[in-house]
Amino acid sequence: MKKVFYYLLSIFFLFSIIFAEEFDEEKIFFWKINTKEKIIFLTFDDGPGEYTKEVLKILDKYNIKATFFVLGELVKYKKQIILEIFRKGHTIGSHTFSHKNFYDLSKKFTLQECKNILEEELIKTKKEIDSILDKVEIKYVRLPNGFYRKWVDEVVKKYGYKIINWSYGCDWLNISEGEMLNRYISSLQPGGIYLFHDGGKDRKKTIKVLEKFIEYVISKGYKFDILNNWIK
Ligand SMILES: [Zn+2]
Repeated sequence: MKKVFYYLLSIFFLFSIIFAEEFDEEKIFFWKINTKEKIIFLTFDDGPGEYTKEVLKILDKYNIKATFFVLGELVKYKKQIILEIFRKGHTIGSHTFSHKNFYDLSKKFTLQECKNILEEELIKTKKEIDSILDKVEIKYVRLPNGFYRKWVDEVVKKYGYKIINWSYGCDWLNISEGEMLNRYISSLQPGGIYLFHDGGKDRKKTIKVLEKFIEYVISKGYKFDILNNWIK
Protein backbone atom coordinates (compact mmCIF):
# COMPACT_ATOMS: atom_id res chain seq x y z
CA MET A 1 0.00 0.00 0.00
CA LYS A 2 2.83 2.32 0.97
CA LYS A 3 4.58 1.55 -2.31
CA VAL A 4 1.50 2.50 -4.32
CA PHE A 5 1.23 5.72 -2.39
CA TYR A 6 4.85 6.71 -3.17
CA TYR A 7 4.38 5.64 -6.77
CA LEU A 8 1.34 7.89 -7.13
CA LEU A 9 3.14 10.69 -5.33
CA SER A 10 6.12 10.53 -7.68
CA ILE A 11 3.81 10.54 -10.70
CA PHE A 12 2.06 13.57 -9.27
CA PHE A 13 5.37 15.43 -8.85
CA LEU A 14 6.53 14.47 -12.31
CA PHE A 15 3.32 15.82 -13.82
CA SER A 16 3.49 19.00 -11.82
CA ILE A 17 7.04 19.63 -13.04
CA ILE A 18 6.09 19.00 -16.66
CA PHE A 19 2.98 21.13 -16.31
CA ALA A 20 4.88 23.98 -14.63
CA GLU A 21 7.47 24.04 -17.41
CA GLU A 22 4.83 24.06 -20.08
CA PHE A 23 3.00 26.83 -18.31
CA ASP A 24 6.15 28.96 -18.07
CA GLU A 25 6.86 28.61 -21.73
CA GLU A 26 3.34 29.74 -22.54
CA LYS A 27 3.50 32.67 -20.18
CA ILE A 28 3.99 35.97 -21.92
CA PHE A 29 2.96 38.50 -19.27
CA PHE A 30 5.26 39.34 -16.35
CA TRP A 31 5.03 41.90 -13.58
CA LYS A 32 7.60 40.16 -11.38
CA ILE A 33 9.93 37.20 -11.57
CA ASN A 34 8.97 34.21 -9.51
CA THR A 35 12.00 33.68 -7.26
CA LYS A 36 12.97 33.81 -3.61
CA GLU A 37 16.50 34.96 -4.52
CA LYS A 38 17.40 38.49 -3.51
CA ILE A 39 17.46 39.88 -7.01
CA ILE A 40 15.57 42.69 -8.68
CA PHE A 41 15.31 44.22 -12.14
CA LEU A 42 15.45 47.87 -13.18
CA THR A 43 13.47 49.11 -16.16
CA PHE A 44 13.22 52.57 -17.74
CA ASP A 45 10.38 53.92 -19.89
CA ASP A 46 9.68 56.74 -22.34
CA GLY A 47 13.25 57.30 -23.52
CA PRO A 48 15.66 57.71 -25.01
CA GLY A 49 15.43 61.13 -23.50
CA GLU A 50 17.08 63.99 -21.74
CA TYR A 51 17.88 61.88 -18.68
CA THR A 52 19.05 58.65 -20.30
CA LYS A 53 22.72 59.64 -20.10
CA GLU A 54 22.44 60.36 -16.39
CA VAL A 55 20.70 57.04 -15.82
CA LEU A 56 23.46 55.23 -17.74
CA LYS A 57 26.10 56.96 -15.62
CA ILE A 58 24.46 55.78 -12.39
CA LEU A 59 24.03 52.24 -13.71
CA ASP A 60 27.72 52.20 -14.72
CA LYS A 61 28.77 53.39 -11.29
CA TYR A 62 27.10 50.38 -9.64
CA ASN A 63 27.75 48.02 -12.54
CA ILE A 64 24.05 47.34 -13.12
CA LYS A 65 22.44 46.20 -16.36
CA ALA A 66 18.86 47.30 -16.95
CA THR A 67 16.13 47.27 -19.59
CA PHE A 68 15.18 50.41 -21.53
CA PHE A 69 11.69 50.43 -23.04
CA VAL A 70 12.19 52.96 -25.81
CA LEU A 71 9.68 54.87 -27.89
CA GLY A 72 10.05 54.13 -31.60
CA GLU A 73 9.38 57.72 -32.65
CA LEU A 74 12.35 59.00 -30.61
CA VAL A 75 14.88 56.45 -31.80
CA LYS A 76 16.04 58.29 -34.92
CA TYR A 77 16.69 61.48 -32.94
CA LYS A 78 18.73 59.67 -30.29
CA LYS A 79 20.86 57.27 -32.29
CA GLN A 80 24.00 57.75 -30.21
CA ILE A 81 22.17 57.06 -26.96
CA ILE A 82 20.56 53.93 -28.36
CA LEU A 83 24.03 52.73 -29.41
CA GLU A 84 25.39 53.55 -25.97
CA ILE A 85 22.59 51.66 -24.19
CA PHE A 86 23.30 48.65 -26.36
CA ARG A 87 27.11 48.79 -26.12
CA LYS A 88 26.94 48.96 -22.35
CA GLY A 89 25.11 45.66 -22.34
CA HIS A 90 21.64 46.86 -21.39
CA THR A 91 18.50 45.40 -22.93
CA ILE A 92 16.35 47.38 -25.33
CA GLY A 93 12.62 46.78 -25.24
CA SER A 94 9.73 48.29 -27.16
CA HIS A 95 7.44 50.82 -25.51
CA THR A 96 5.51 51.17 -28.82
CA PHE A 97 6.09 53.90 -31.39
CA SER A 98 4.11 56.91 -30.21
CA HIS A 99 2.91 56.14 -26.67
CA LYS A 100 -0.75 55.86 -27.60
CA ASN A 101 -3.15 55.42 -24.71
CA PHE A 102 -4.88 52.12 -25.38
CA TYR A 103 -7.37 52.73 -22.56
CA ASP A 104 -8.71 55.66 -24.61
CA LEU A 105 -8.35 53.92 -27.95
CA SER A 106 -10.40 50.94 -26.81
CA LYS A 107 -13.30 53.29 -26.10
CA LYS A 108 -13.15 54.86 -29.56
CA PHE A 109 -12.18 51.96 -31.81
CA THR A 110 -13.31 48.39 -32.40
CA LEU A 111 -11.27 45.53 -31.04
CA GLN A 112 -9.90 44.73 -34.49
CA GLU A 113 -8.91 48.36 -35.06
CA CYS A 114 -7.09 48.42 -31.70
CA LYS A 115 -5.25 45.24 -32.63
CA ASN A 116 -4.22 46.80 -35.94
CA ILE A 117 -3.02 49.99 -34.23
CA LEU A 118 -0.91 48.03 -31.74
CA GLU A 119 0.53 45.87 -34.50
CA GLU A 120 1.52 48.95 -36.48
CA GLU A 121 3.08 50.54 -33.38
CA LEU A 122 5.19 47.44 -32.78
CA ILE A 123 6.29 47.05 -36.39
CA LYS A 124 7.29 50.72 -36.71
CA THR A 125 9.30 50.63 -33.48
CA LYS A 126 11.13 47.48 -34.49
CA LYS A 127 11.96 49.05 -37.85
CA GLU A 128 13.43 52.14 -36.18
CA ILE A 129 15.59 50.09 -33.82
CA ASP A 130 16.68 47.77 -36.64
CA SER A 131 17.84 50.76 -38.67
CA ILE A 132 20.40 51.54 -35.97
CA LEU A 133 21.17 48.19 -34.41
CA ASP A 134 21.37 45.56 -37.03
CA LYS A 135 20.04 42.18 -35.92
CA VAL A 136 19.27 43.09 -32.34
CA GLU A 137 16.48 40.89 -31.13
CA ILE A 138 13.72 42.82 -29.39
CA LYS A 139 12.10 40.39 -26.99
CA TYR A 140 10.21 42.52 -24.55
CA VAL A 141 7.40 45.00 -24.89
CA ARG A 142 5.67 47.27 -22.40
CA LEU A 143 2.54 49.08 -23.49
CA PRO A 144 2.05 52.70 -22.40
CA ASN A 145 0.39 52.91 -18.97
CA GLY A 146 0.96 49.18 -18.57
CA PHE A 147 -2.14 48.51 -20.67
CA TYR A 148 -2.95 44.83 -20.75
CA ARG A 149 -5.88 42.81 -22.07
CA LYS A 150 -6.14 39.26 -23.27
CA TRP A 151 -6.23 40.51 -26.88
CA VAL A 152 -2.84 42.16 -26.42
CA ASP A 153 -1.38 38.65 -25.90
CA GLU A 154 -2.50 37.61 -29.34
CA VAL A 155 -0.84 40.53 -31.12
CA VAL A 156 2.32 40.42 -29.07
CA LYS A 157 2.69 36.65 -29.45
CA LYS A 158 2.67 37.03 -33.21
CA TYR A 159 5.99 38.87 -32.98
CA GLY A 160 7.46 36.65 -30.28
CA TYR A 161 7.46 39.38 -27.63
CA LYS A 162 6.90 38.94 -23.90
CA ILE A 163 5.03 41.64 -22.02
CA ILE A 164 6.95 43.11 -19.10
CA ASN A 165 4.99 45.27 -16.71
CA TRP A 166 6.25 46.18 -13.26
CA SER A 167 6.00 45.30 -9.58
CA TYR A 168 6.44 48.87 -8.47
CA GLY A 169 6.95 52.37 -9.83
CA CYS A 170 5.86 55.85 -8.73
CA ASP A 171 8.38 58.34 -10.17
CA TRP A 172 5.68 60.08 -12.22
CA LEU A 173 3.67 61.08 -9.15
CA ASN A 174 3.75 64.55 -7.73
CA ILE A 175 5.27 63.58 -4.38
CA SER A 176 8.42 64.63 -2.55
CA GLU A 177 11.76 62.96 -3.20
CA GLY A 178 11.74 61.43 0.29
CA GLU A 179 8.25 60.05 -0.11
CA MET A 180 9.14 58.62 -3.51
CA LEU A 181 12.24 56.91 -2.16
CA ASN A 182 10.27 55.49 0.79
CA ARG A 183 7.67 54.04 -1.52
CA TYR A 184 10.27 52.32 -3.69
CA ILE A 185 12.12 51.05 -0.64
CA SER A 186 9.02 49.62 1.02
CA SER A 187 8.15 47.77 -2.18
CA LEU A 188 11.46 45.90 -2.32
CA GLN A 189 10.84 42.20 -2.87
CA PRO A 190 12.68 39.25 -4.46
CA GLY A 191 12.10 39.14 -8.20
CA GLY A 192 10.64 42.66 -8.27
CA ILE A 193 10.62 44.59 -11.55
CA TYR A 194 10.97 48.33 -10.87
CA LEU A 195 9.84 51.08 -13.19
CA PHE A 196 11.53 54.46 -13.55
CA HIS A 197 11.44 56.98 -16.41
CA ASP A 198 14.39 58.38 -18.39
CA GLY A 199 12.24 60.51 -20.71
CA GLY A 200 8.87 62.16 -21.07
CA LYS A 201 9.28 65.13 -18.73
CA ASP A 202 11.39 66.52 -15.90
CA ARG A 203 13.00 63.50 -14.25
CA LYS A 204 15.45 65.22 -11.89
CA LYS A 205 13.69 63.63 -8.93
CA THR A 206 13.91 60.21 -10.58
CA ILE A 207 17.67 60.55 -10.97
CA LYS A 208 18.14 61.32 -7.27
CA VAL A 209 15.73 58.64 -6.06
CA LEU A 210 17.20 56.04 -8.41
CA GLU A 211 20.70 56.31 -6.96
CA LYS A 212 19.46 56.26 -3.36
CA PHE A 213 17.21 53.30 -4.11
CA ILE A 214 20.13 51.40 -5.66
CA GLU A 215 22.27 52.05 -2.58
CA TYR A 216 19.49 50.85 -0.28
CA VAL A 217 18.92 47.71 -2.38
CA ILE A 218 22.64 46.86 -2.27
CA SER A 219 22.78 47.49 1.50
CA LYS A 220 20.02 44.89 1.94
CA GLY A 221 22.10 42.26 0.15
CA TYR A 222 20.12 42.34 -3.10
CA LYS A 223 21.64 42.04 -6.55
CA PHE A 224 20.47 43.38 -9.90
CA ASP A 225 19.87 40.94 -12.71
CA ILE A 226 18.79 41.07 -16.34
CA LEU A 227 15.43 39.77 -17.50
CA ASN A 228 17.09 37.65 -20.13
CA ASN A 229 18.47 35.37 -17.42
CA TRP A 230 14.92 34.58 -16.33
CA ILE A 231 12.65 35.04 -19.32
CA LYS A 232 13.69 33.33 -22.50
ZN1 LIG B 1 5.41 55.29 -20.96
